[in-house]
Amino acid sequence: MDKFLNMKTFDICWNCGKEHDSTNQSPFEYGVKCECGGYVVSPSGKVQIKTVPIVHVYQMNEYDAVAAESVEQAIEYYSQFEPLDEEDIENIEVVPMDYQVWDDEERTKKISIREIIENEWKGEPFIAFSTEY
Ligand SMILES: [Zn+2]
Repeated sequence: MDKFLNMKTFDICWNCGKEHDSTNQSPFEYGVKCECGGYVVSPSGKVQIKTVPIVHVYQMNEYDAVAAESVEQAIEYYSQFEPLDEEDIENIEVVPMDYQVWDDEERTKKISIREIIENEWKGEPFIAFSTEY
């Protein structure tokens, strides 16, 4: 499984600190310059990389959490199943990547949000977990 499927990467300019999206760029290109004239990738290939997750898990209400690329996408997806009112939308929160949820109905094994996304993200939103009462 490609761990970077859920990651965007940015090369950071050594001079001004500006972040350049390098997600789909060749890592073998040296001597890349920023608009400021400083190096993003030095002539010897030195680079500062920052990775940012693309997908987050959003807690939609007290029952369900949706994995999506943005809160708007999560709302659009979840509204097919359950109407959301203004108060629900205001209360949507990002679930931390290291938050653990039960992986099975028997409640024998826990799995982190990061693992759920890495294992199950296929480019489309999905219900990451549901809380049963
Ligand atoms: Zn710069």
